[in-house]
Amino acid sequence: MTTTMAIRIHGLGGPEMMRWEQVPLPEPGPGEVLVRQEAVGLNFIDTYHRSGLYPVPSLPAVLGMEAAGVVEAAGPAAADGPTFQPGDRVAYGSVLGGYAERRVMPADQLVAVPEGVDYEAAAAAMLKGMTAWYLCRRTYRVSAGETVLVHAAAGGVGTILGQWCKALGATVIGTAGSPEKGRLARAHGTDHIILYKEEDFVERAREITGGRGVPVVFDGVGKATFEGSMECLARFGMMITFGNASGPVPPLNLLRLSAKGISVARPSLKPYIDRREDLEEASGELLGHIQAGRIRLNIGQRFPLSEAAEAHRALESRQTQGCTILQP
Ligand code: NDP
Repeated sequence: MTTTMAIRIHGLGGPEMMRWEQVPLPEPGPGEVLVRQEAVGLNFIDTYHRSGLYPVPSLPAVLGMEAAGVVEAAGPAAADGPTFQPGDRVAYGSVLGGYAERRVMPADQLVAVPEGVDYEAAAAAMLKGMTAWYLCRRTYRVSAGETVLVHAAAGGVGTILGQWCKALGATVIGTAGSPEKGRLARAHGTDHIILYKEEDFVERAREITGGRGVPVVFDGVGKATFEGSMECLARFGMMITFGNASGPVPPLNLLRLSAKGISVARPSLKPYIDRREDLEEASGELLGHIQAGRIRLNIGQRFPLSEAAEAHRALESRQTQGCTILQP
């Protein structure tokens, strides 16, 4: 059987569990395509799959959810599925098995990469950008004139979400872990930077909003910021906790929400793009913004795919900025 090189884990744990090894590469079956990957996106969820915080279906498992590349071969198209030809430029954002040079995957999880969007931008954008899409266009519909709070505004999701909220006419308050990250966030949609290692972000957010608080907090940091984020909310505000960069948020006593009439959402990307038409809408809007230059992808660092463990260490120790690309 043909093989390909990939990063695989055989057990759960730290970055040292990741092995660069040969894995089987089957022929594409009905409704499947074989993709030669040109760029792979790094995401925090990859670290959760590795550590076991989020389950993988079985072990050994090839990590990775997001990549872009070229179709090399296609199996017979499914009756109601999309068709791709060898040579087509494609990308995806939520299919486990991405840390590989080549892979076989369902065609209905792929979208075409439009002209003017390169492989790195597509690979960096699909998971993080469709997440930004559902956060500000579905879970909460950001409108012009609102002031919103985005945590880790210099991160992968943060740099895209900040620009998206800005494009919708909002004023963006963003937190960042260093002055350098603050400058990056400012260049990607954030109007007011809070350096949350040095300043009390609750106090500063109150100050910026004239004491009113914000209607929505986008919090992918999790444990370390959840309590403060709740305090930043205005009456009837919405707390969106969507990640665990600093650890998972402990269980919440719902009675705490009643005093200000707060709602809490804990969404994830998959249900927002389960149906093909939703995937096309989300990726179409995202790639359209990128193509038009309204959303710029910041590739802060690149690692050879074979050194993905180093990339995980950097991401988990807050050393990355913007998006990270793994090069097959
Ligand atoms: P980022 O590039 O944003 O990296 C995480 C950032 O979080 C760090 O750079 C750091 O920025 C900040 N951070 C604060 N405290 C910590 C800590 N203790 N350890 C590590 N990082 C910390 O990652 P992604 O863009 O890949 O993801 C951002 C978040 O969004 C993650 O929590 C991820 O799980 C979540 N996510 C959720 C999805 C969903 O659908 N629910 C989909 C995609 C992502 P700084 O130094 O500036 O504080």
